[in-house]
Amino acid sequence: MKPDSKHFVDLHVHTNFSDSSLSPREVMEIAQDKGLSAVAITDHDCVDGIVPAQQVAQEMSIEVIPGVELTTESEDREIHIIGLFIDYQKEWFAQKLEQIRQFRVQRMREMIGRLKENGIEVEEEEVFSLSTTSGSVGRLHLARVLLSKGVVGSIKQAFDMYIGENNCCYVKRMRITPQEAIAMIKNLGGIPVLAHPGMQNCDELIVRLLPEGLMGIEVFHINHTPREMHYYSELAKKYNLLISGGSDCHGEGKGVPFIGKVRVPYHVLEALKQAVAAEHGKE
Ligand code: AMP
Ligand code: FE
Ligand code: FE
Ligand code: ZN
Repeated sequence: MKPDSKHFVDLHVHTNFSDSSLSPREVMEIAQDKGLSAVAITDHDCVDGIVPAQQVAQEMSIEVIPGVELTTESEDREIHIIGLFIDYQKEWFAQKLEQIRQFRVQRMREMIGRLKENGIEVEEEEVFSLSTTSGSVGRLHLARVLLSKGVVGSIKQAFDMYIGENNCCYVKRMRITPQEAIAMIKNLGGIPVLAHPGMQNCDELIVRLLPEGLMGIEVFHINHTPREMHYYSELAKKYNLLISGGSDCHGEGKGVPFIGKVRVPYHVLEALKQAVAAEHGKE
């Protein structure tokens, strides 16, 4: 049966191949429980959770969209770019992601060093053991360790006191520009989408990224208010951009797993699929 307007999808979900507490299997089981028709696996700087999710999905009638969320920097601001429908098995991309993840490992060691200078002892292994071996390690893992050790009373406090962008123990990631991320995603045959614009305060950047090949923006997101959703869907119309979005679920790392909580209708995915088909037709 073909999904119709009564069906819903979630096009922004993390696994424990980046900073969610949920394995690909657990993600897919929740998606099934919520009755979703499709899920895009969009881990930070990692695509290794896609195949395990697809394997589990074979047992269910849920489609898995291969994706990634690349962290970029523009004028000192953090900008997240999502790639949907990427040809994730390309060797050059695997190498690039490996380089980014190695940098993340070094950066995590530096952040742990800075915490030590501030009198807070964290073992590297405590942090690295929270993501899978090939996965990408990040600040949410460190925040979870700080919470479990009682150094902070909440994940938010870990960011506010220690590892938020302007705090003492923050260290930058490898620098990639939004333009580079968009070019990589296009080279993989994917659709580049600006993630959660409501959280990034970067509306002027949307216009600048259009000639670079930006094809969509997230309208649906757990942190977008109804007003922001309306605003960004109007902006998408104005600039002829595709719309996307989802829960940005990180499992227990951000409270409770809220996969499917943001209701993204199936026609959003259909429009994205048509755009992929049109791009391939151009080749
Ligand atoms: P990283 O890519 O290692 O710099 O970590 C960024 C990730 O940390 C984001 O994707 C979020 O999952 C998480 N994050 C950033 N700021 C906060 C915050 N204030 N509260 C909770 N999680 C956050
Ligand atoms: Fe994250
Ligand atoms: Fe993000
Ligand atoms: Zn995300």
